[in-house]
Amino acid sequence: MSQQVLSPVDESIVATIEELDVAATDAAIERAARAQVAWARVAPADRSRLLIRAAEAIDAANEELALLEVRNAGHTISNARWEAANVRDVLTYYSGAPERNFGRQIPVPGGVDLTFLEPIGVVGVIVPWNFPMPIASWGFAPALAAGNAVVLKPAELTPLTAIRIAELCCEAGIPEDVFQVLPGKGSVVGWRFVTNEKVRKICFTGSTEVGKKIMAGCAEQVKRLTLELGGKSANIVFADADLEEAASTAPASVFDNAGQDCCSRSRLLVEASVYDRFLSLLEPAVKSFEVGDPSAETTQMGPLISAEQRARVASYVGPGANVAFQGSAPSGKGFWFPPTVLAPVDRSDRACREEIFGPVLSVIAFDDEQEAIEIANDTPYGLSGSIWTREVGRAFRVARAIETGTLSVNSHSSVRYWTPFGGFKQSGLGRELGPDALEHFSEVKNVFIRTGE
Ligand code: NAD
Repeated sequence: MSQQVLSPVDESIVATIEELDVAATDAAIERAARAQVAWARVAPADRSRLLIRAAEAIDAANEELALLEVRNAGHTISNARWEAANVRDVLTYYSGAPERNFGRQIPVPGGVDLTFLEPIGVVGVIVPWNFPMPIASWGFAPALAAGNAVVLKPAELTPLTAIRIAELCCEAGIPEDVFQVLPGKGSVVGWRFVTNEKVRKICFTGSTEVGKKIMAGCAEQVKRLTLELGGKSANIVFADADLEEAASTAPASVFDNAGQDCCSRSRLLVEASVYDRFLSLLEPAVKSFEVGDPSAETTQMGPLISAEQRARVASYVGPGANVAFQGSAPSGKGFWFPPTVLAPVDRSDRACREEIFGPVLSVIAFDDEQEAIEIANDTPYGLSGSIWTREVGRAFRVARAIETGTLSVNSHSSVRYWTPFGGFKQSGLGRELGPDALEHFSEVKNVFIRTGE
């Protein structure tokens, strides 16, 4: 079946894509299973070289991939360039892995004991629409490095860059059946990854709702699984912080990618004694956040991904919502929504509890450190967060007390390919990136050799 891919900027048709059915998905999985056997036998240095060549091909195509993402997903050109470069970096980082995927030698009586990190087999990577390039690579790069074959399903709305990346990897020498991108419906192609026994692991990024279904489906075959799900992260500003810097950086921490970011700091917790002053600093920063044509170099925020997503976001800003101030957004064609600040918002309000996945920030005041921690943890999610303070002891105390996988102090950094990324509670299971990711794409095998002592 063919599916039209729309530009969220002007609603024009960018491409028409053939989506796979179950039979075509099964055939691709079968090819991947066969190819994986040979891929796992490729000498580590050669596998490494192929990953480096793929990284170089993606680097050479940076502008092409970035422009494709601007059209398909409405990302700003500066973000899209970073995203394509992130794919290069993740491939380069894991290109070092095939030669360093060590097992252990464990002292035992009567012989020698060795562990091997074996590939799992075929890995199914399921990707959401919000960061199509980076999230694809966080799955496929370590999976390939560890000797697995990958079948990857991009989101229905944003398949174009993943398709192009697979072509580039193939041209760089990675066998085409070892890394296949299979566009299609989640309920058809994605779900077939879950039910087909030849797919031995699912690496899913998306909503908590779909993640739970996938987890239940994987239980049937005790299929290996990592989940990167939703978030409702807190940006906590203490009275002793550099308030000017905290206020000038807060908009990007929630409005970047139009708020369609699992790490978006969509709850802003401000110490009551500086609440008014902080909001007076925040207002001009929000109002000057540049929203518009994503291909312009200075644009900071583009449109939302779809009409449906815009309607969902708007439902949080309807009558009764406490809108403190808003930025601006273009009108006319395209799925635009202005940066919006709700303040103050009651902790029980749905804007404070649910992942909006749009440019809407909820502001809450707190009285002391203990209350800030309690509010930050009062959510089923636990993905990211920021702490602004000049007191180093407090920075550590609060960082240790917050139930979340990735925190930053006096900055809004979340995803760094050198370091583990993933969620506590209902934000996920397992970790991606950094040195930890390889474990999740390997099976540990223990071999004992009797020496007859
Ligand atoms: P989604 O859950 O609707 O879809 C994600 C992917 O799963 C898509 O490719 C979709 O086609 C597929 N899918 C849908 N139903 C399926 C099924 N029954 N079986 C198999 N696959 C299925 O999510 P979305 O709307 O594309 O993305 C937004 C969500 O992703 C947000 O909740 C966001 O927080 C989350 N996200 C999390 C991270 C993270 O690293 N934690 C990163 C980015 C996005």
